[in-house]
Amino acid sequence: MVKAFSYGLGTYDVAKLLEENNVDYLGVANIYEGIELRKAGIKLPIMVMKPEIESFDLIVEHHLTPAIFSSHALKTLIKTLHDTPFTISLKIDTGMHRLGFDEQEIPELLSILKEHPSLNIESVFSHLAATDEKEHDGFTKQQIEDFKRIANTISSEFDYHIDKHLLNSNGIIRFNDAQFDMVRLGIGLYGVSSELDSQNKLLPASTLKSKIAQIKRVSKGETIGYNRKGLATEDLTIATIPVGYADGLSRMLGNGNWKMIINSKKAPIIGNVCMDMVMIDVTNIDCKEGDEAFIFSNDNPITQMAKCIGTIPYEILTSYSPRVKRVFNYG
Ligand SMILES: *Cc1c(COP(=O)(O)O)cnc(C)c1O
Repeated sequence: MVKAFSYGLGTYDVAKLLEENNVDYLGVANIYEGIELRKAGIKLPIMVMKPEIESFDLIVEHHLTPAIFSSHALKTLIKTLHDTPFTISLKIDTGMHRLGFDEQEIPELLSILKEHPSLNIESVFSHLAATDEKEHDGFTKQQIEDFKRIANTISSEFDYHIDKHLLNSNGIIRFNDAQFDMVRLGIGLYGVSSELDSQNKLLPASTLKSKIAQIKRVSKGETIGYNRKGLATEDLTIATIPVGYADGLSRMLGNGNWKMIINSKKAPIIGNVCMDMVMIDVTNIDCKEGDEAFIFSNDNPITQMAKCIGTIPYEILTSYSPRVKRVFNYG
């Protein structure tokens, strides 16, 4: 899954690396993400999870595989195609209640498909709603059973093989007997999980770092940053780091809620996060201008940052703005 700029890390490079390493399929959220990959020269099949019905002509033009989730979507595609052979994927709703055919809509779906044999159904899939939370494992198992039954009903109507796929990252780790023909690895590819047991089995693939722009001494009683929210309760040494909320560093991490790592030591954010910069307390840290500041890293994990501001790692990763330079190190 390389949607949302490969979970914020930069679509093209990740997609290219995956293509070079013989991944079978890429997945994106919308048509425009798929088109960007095609423009960057990606030849792999690309599945579009949430295709915009009004732009199906672009799906056809760029050889993307739409996840067809409703009869309306299917009929629109058929109109666009004029019987040209085309490959599609079918999305079934087994409990997520977002996009997909309900079980009772399957007979209607099958009758439309039968009338249009030029459509090649490459896969049938569904999405699990709660692989992160063990208390919902009963629900997840029911989703798996429902998916099997519905997918078998569909594939028994055709005389060619139709792939089945269901699992996202945490599903791959926790329900590996439901792998079917493919899995849709997303956040796990980037070494992150929102669930601790799974996180312990993964190595984060990204680090966010910057450099100290300036070091200042601040006397006891002086204040730091906007609205004077940072107060020096004693004489302090502070460092200014050129990363702010416009880069994706949540303002909720200010005022001591997050620490950066400077020369292996933790330096708390002092005062409010500004748009382009933030100040940290380095009073007890041996450091100089130009030294690296790790905003998140293996020792300062993104899972913890997410917890700290009441969100999930997915949101943290995808919040970093395009102006944060992405550097790929292929080892
Ligand atoms: C995003 C997405 C995935 C990947 O989910 P992760 O939890 O990141 O592995 C899989 N399937 C669908 C339909 C998705 O939208």
